[in-house]
Amino acid sequence: MRTYKQRMPDDFHLHLRSGAMLKAVLPYTVEQFGRATVMPNLHPDPILMGLQAEMYGNEIMSYGFNSFKPLMTIQITEKTTAQMIRQAQEAGVIAGKIYPKGMTTNSENGVVDYKSLHKVFLQMEASQMVLLLHGEHPHSTSSLYRERDFMDTLDYIAGKYPTLKIVLEHVTTAYAISTVKMFKNVAATITLHHLLLTLDDVIGGKLKPHNFCKPIAKFESDREAIVEAAFSGSHKFFFGSDSAPHQRSTKECEEGCAGIFTAPVIMPMLVEFFEKHGKLRLLENFTARYGAEFYGLPRNEGILELVNVPNHLPKEISIPELNDSVVVFQGGQTISWSIKGVSHA
Ligand SMILES: [Zn+2]
Repeated sequence: MRTYKQRMPDDFHLHLRSGAMLKAVLPYTVEQFGRATVMPNLHPDPILMGLQAEMYGNEIMSYGFNSFKPLMTIQITEKTTAQMIRQAQEAGVIAGKIYPKGMTTNSENGVVDYKSLHKVFLQMEASQMVLLLHGEHPHSTSSLYRERDFMDTLDYIAGKYPTLKIVLEHVTTAYAISTVKMFKNVAATITLHHLLLTLDDVIGGKLKPHNFCKPIAKFESDREAIVEAAFSGSHKFFFGSDSAPHQRSTKECEEGCAGIFTAPVIMPMLVEFFEKHGKLRLLENFTARYGAEFYGLPRNEGILELVNVPNHLPKEISIPELNDSVVVFQGGQTISWSIKGVSHA
């Protein structure tokens, strides 16, 4: 039996939700990751202030997973002030997230006018707070062009605030990858599902609601560019799952929510994918080094171990409190790697 060991990874983009959903999904992240950047788009009340982030962090920590550190964020809206950034920093918030208005789950209070955030960006620069961007332009002629059309906005922010650390989240296009490379202060997260999926895996045959996310998976040439970036050894590209649990009933309906729940399968599938391409030696830096360096964090201490034994992925995680379940990405398949555990040697 073969084993794979690496430094405990980080997930630099994660949706944990709250309440019963948080309780159900959190253990899957904790068993594989030392830290995760926790997204602020809670429903009905997003995390907008340091105090809320602190309370949300306490809710996450109340489950007693003491080896896990949530990296807390606030959502930046047009109402955010420089003082709110300072207060958030004092409350331990590490990053601010901007959603373009109406682009994805709970983004009704998203930003339209980025220029109105001048003082906020200056304060984030001064505070070394990371700016996380959902990079889609709301008024593109097609949902397939939204990320490409957002690059003008990225260009504007990255150029005007050259020491602001910016992460273009869940990059999905070759065009965006080439844009990220142009700016010293810009990095990008890459998800598991965008390494694997194209648009045809969502709508090419029968509709696959559990492969539907924002930004939607694009063309094969885009997927290849994402894979190339992940395998490039460039410090600008690191892992962020964007694992986004939704109740099955809100995915399989007339207006299905965007989001893919990958948390239970991430490291086994990443090991399988990197090994299949002969790139396993690059996985540790992609998941446990480059992101920490960009954020200015020390690397994790523990060692994660996986073993080469068949792993039958669960189809869904049931949540009795909600009388519903969450469907697992590629659930029902058997893959070749399983998590063994964490050691702190
Ligand atoms: Zn997300």
